[in-house]
Amino acid sequence: MWRKLWSLKVPPKSRNLVWRACNVVLPTADLLKRKGVDLDVICRLCRQQDESIFHVMVQCPFARQCWEVSRIGFILGSASAFTKWLSLGFQRLAVEDCCYLIRVCWRLCFANVVAHLLAWETRPIADARSRVSLRLRSF
Ligand SMILES: [Zn+2]
Repeated sequence: MWRKLWSLKVPPKSRNLVWRACNVVLPTADLLKRKGVDLDVICRLCRQQDESIFHVMVQCPFARQCWEVSRIGFILGSASAFTKWLSLGFQRLAVEDCCYLIRVCWRLCFANVVAHLLAWETRPIADARSRVSLRLRSF
């Protein structure tokens, strides 16, 4: 799978993002919570489940809708983790559709970041200041 990922003709930033997602190093809410960051782990896009990389890229109703209208369609199979899901996609799809899949993953991640930024902007300023202050004191 890794050889295929690195051979795809996609922007390096999107290939790197997917590699980081597979290696559980993207700062999703669930990972940050496990590392001790005090934050709400609920998905900012659907507000139904906790945010994990598998949720953001595959399980989230927003992601699912994106996949359903994409030229690939929605793929889940028996996958229960992002890496397994990606591997399944790579096995089933032609090379050009694998490139497309990587680009959609990039956009889904971007949508999630935007959702976080919008959620941050709607918080009261005092709340944001106190959170920053608490984080600074902990360093
Ligand atoms: Zn969601």
